[in-house]
Amino acid sequence: MTVVEEIKDRVDIAELIGESMQLKKSGKNFTGFCPFHANTRTPAFVVFPDTGTWRCFGACNEGGDVYKYVMKKEGWDFPQALQNLAERAGVELRPRTPEQEEQEEAQVGLRGLLESAVTFYRNNLLHSDQVLGYLQGRGFSSEALESFGVGYAPDSWDALQAFLLEKGHKHEQLVEAGLIAKRENGGFYDRFRNRIMFPIRDGRGRMAGFGARISDPKDQPKFINSPQTVLFDKGRLLFGLDGARKAIRAADQAVVVEGYFDVIALHQAGHGNAVSPMGTALTSHQLRSLKRYSRNIVLALDADAAGNQATLRGLNVAREALDREPDPVFDARGLVRHEGRLDAEIRIVGLPEGKDPDEVALEDPEAWTDLLRKASPVVEYVMDLLIGPSDSQDAKQKAAIARQVLPLIEDVADPVEREAYRQGLARRLKVDERAMMGWRPKRTTRTQASAPDLQQVDSMATEGFCLGLLLRDPELTYWIDRQLHALELEGLSSQDFIGTDSQVIFKAVQSSLGQVDEEPTERWKALLDGTALDQAIAFASKAEEVDFARPKVADAVSADFFRLRMRRVEGLLEQLSFQQQAVQELETVEQEMISLAKKAQNLVTQKRRLDVALAGRK
Ligand SMILES: [Zn+2]
Repeated sequence: MTVVEEIKDRVDIAELIGESMQLKKSGKNFTGFCPFHANTRTPAFVVFPDTGTWRCFGACNEGGDVYKYVMKKEGWDFPQALQNLAERAGVELRPRTPEQEEQEEAQVGLRGLLESAVTFYRNNLLHSDQVLGYLQGRGFSSEALESFGVGYAPDSWDALQAFLLEKGHKHEQLVEAGLIAKRENGGFYDRFRNRIMFPIRDGRGRMAGFGARISDPKDQPKFINSPQTVLFDKGRLLFGLDGARKAIRAADQAVVVEGYFDVIALHQAGHGNAVSPMGTALTSHQLRSLKRYSRNIVLALDADAAGNQATLRGLNVAREALDREPDPVFDARGLVRHEGRLDAEIRIVGLPEGKDPDEVALEDPEAWTDLLRKASPVVEYVMDLLIGPSDSQDAKQKAAIARQVLPLIEDVADPVEREAYRQGLARRLKVDERAMMGWRPKRTTRTQASAPDLQQVDSMATEGFCLGLLLRDPELTYWIDRQLHALELEGLSSQDFIGTDSQVIFKAVQSSLGQVDEEPTERWKALLDGTALDQAIAFASKAEEVDFARPKVADAVSADFFRLRMRRVEGLLEQLSFQQQAVQELETVEQEMISLAKKAQNLVTQKRRLDVALAGRK
């Protein structure tokens, strides 16, 4: 493998592109609004993770690999793109320069220095009866404190530096390691004084810095960290990760708690898969490090944070906020976006009132396991929090909740999941129960002819199945159009398909019909390429199983196409109902209400026709 290929292989293209624009999952791919041309209507930009490519199907009509993307986005030439992506991928481009070797040596020196500090703080703790007594009083075992290297910084301005200088280290090194700071009027002072010290290591167990917690309740602030150094970047490190990696893999779950004590207590109680961020920012870097070991991530919130709507402030943050900005720890919106971009599963659980994870875990390790089982997906968690157990909201409250939750749902990457959340929200808010809920789908049973291997009606599967039929025989489009026209509905369009890839395939089918030079089945093969072509061929071969000579097959097939249209109509109606409610709440012009009502009426009519047609094809 060439280095260019190796880098391409290691960089997650959807993740990289997702950092500078919003991407939504669409089947195996991601779609979004093209960053290279002005478009706000249809997401014309597609990322194909399988092939590591992207393409704008809109005005740009171009695409390429990850290199092409960063070159276009950043204005880099190829060597610049290569250099930057190599760094990201952790691939070395050429033998290290003497300079780099020197830098690495310096880092090794700094880590050694930090290890000496760990020893110093540790010894100091063992001789500080009061602090040790406090820790033991909280239930921590000597073994747990030892394995995390917990220490104590004495209440002194120079004890640490005196110790390290005597070992031959220089002031500059101590400053560089973030252990001491320079006074304005000359001289140096120990950064950490009278504090409980938590060594922070990287995932490989190498020292990076310290987290420090007050020992005297009168001190402020409660927590401080090492400053940013060449080794310490709090947005990239997680406390406890080096010791938690194995347990995360074994449990196929990582648990993120809020404090150092929580992590230690959980490990002590046998729950070794817990880590914590330092302070208040949980970044995509940190989630990405966790995802290396498991894609299932649970955030355990202290009751204060869990029940506090302020923790959801991300909902109200401007949508345009740069994704690169560190998000508040439990910013629901940031989490949902990270989740989609990283293809991780993030759940949230709130702790019992007045209890920290360390208390729960040390009192009863089983209770902790039970608690984690109750974790809910971020969107559900937010809905629970906003809607609560009662359903006493008035119209205005409902509209306000919908306005808060809907944007969050929009950020969910998976279209099927998104749809389920929308339905769940409508149900829980009892939105428009009379006028609008009438169109809620009555699940029709699928006849055996339509898709023998599909047990249930899955809208994405129906989409693939219908496409397969059209690919096998493009002229079937005319027949379906006639069926739709008979119901006074417009003919098939790419809008009947959700996946952008499906739409691309459908458009190829349409184009294959609009020409006479080639057989339509040959034509779409020539029009499609890459992933879309593979997908199209797979769809078409599945459709080979359908035997039109068998009775009722034609009915079953048209029913599947009607379901596609039904899905589209229902989706539009649902959006419309929320919009109507929002407008109503805003008490804006009557005219807008009328126009929305007209649209709704039109959709309800279409839906009724489809209902009748589907009832006749059961
Ligand atoms: Zn474009």
